[in-house]
Amino acid sequence: MRAFRYESLPGRVVFGVDSALTVAEEISGQRVLVLATPRGLPLARSLAEPLGDRVAGEFTSVREHVPVAVASQAVEVARSVGADCLLAIGGGSTVGTAKAIALELRLPIVAVPTTYAGSEMTPVWGMTSPSGKRTGRSLDVLPAVVVYDPSLTVGLPRTLTVTSAMNAMAHSVEGVYAAGANPISSLMAEESVRALAKGLVAADDVEARTSLLYGAYLAGAVFAVAGSGLHHKICHVLGGAYDLPHAATHTVVLPHVAEFMDGPALAPIASALNAPTAADGLRALARRVDAPTSLADIGFTPANLSEAAALVAAQVDVPEPRVRALLASAL
Ligand code: NAD
Repeated sequence: MRAFRYESLPGRVVFGVDSALTVAEEISGQRVLVLATPRGLPLARSLAEPLGDRVAGEFTSVREHVPVAVASQAVEVARSVGADCLLAIGGGSTVGTAKAIALELRLPIVAVPTTYAGSEMTPVWGMTSPSGKRTGRSLDVLPAVVVYDPSLTVGLPRTLTVTSAMNAMAHSVEGVYAAGANPISSLMAEESVRALAKGLVAADDVEARTSLLYGAYLAGAVFAVAGSGLHHKICHVLGGAYDLPHAATHTVVLPHVAEFMDGPALAPIASALNAPTAADGLRALARRVDAPTSLADIGFTPANLSEAAALVAAQVDVPEPRVRALLASAL
């Protein structure tokens, strides 16, 4: 076995059907700021209700990719209500907004995820401005408690379920060869891909949702310690430069990167998918669950190809013609 480094991150995880009903017991703060999208607010209010007058305020101006203006507004609201704790109930964008506040004010986050994005397990923050996306790592933004309740994801529409779960799978696939890959995170990656695939092909019930959320949790934990590489760079560039949808872009690009990276490191993924190679398994799964399989279907055009290849190649250690070939196959 090769030498490795593994840094386990602090944080408490509470997992199980209906666990969100007791989220108030996980909160010690006396002035809690609740974050949710307007659509998620009724759910957030009902889960926060046992906190009574410990709810100091609500923030619902959540936007995808956390624009800096929204981040500043959220920090101001947290400051003005004297918040001492953040309760984020929603997808990656809601958790991301709480992270933006925590980065500035160092408040603890209690996260209740309702998608499979995985941000709640990572110390990574991201914010966007007209000049692009900035990301960074800080333990200040890592949620102190994460409550995973599969029943909250039962209403997630099928298209979003598929792309969000494939986005989670991308964390695990990439986690086995990323710079921080190690035997412990690779074990979690394999288990995560197995659970995500099982949940995706099963009938849509709470058991399938449990498998998906468990897989997403592990995938987020893999991403947090192993980091990312070529796949996330490609998706980052495509999302930023051509405004492609985040999870769907991951879904389309993943089998192509797996093909490109094929080698012994990807064996745990192939094994989890019960396929000769990771790419074969991912392609078969995508077909089976009707996932988008072409960049052309999600807003990318052949006219963008050369520019996109140059943009990606400037950020990775792969020659431009090979990036172009990869993108062309995904197109
Ligand atoms: P999102 O939070 O924007 O949610 C997507 C959509 O799903 C929204 O319209 C939301 O209202 C809806 N939704 C959420 N939960 C629902 C439910 N249970 N039922 C029905 N609809 C529901 O997107 P996301 O895919 O969860 O997260 C993507 C964001 O997270 C991106 O900005 C990405 O960069 C970020 N992210 C960050 C990290 C990190 O480590 N910092 C990791 C993964 C993703």
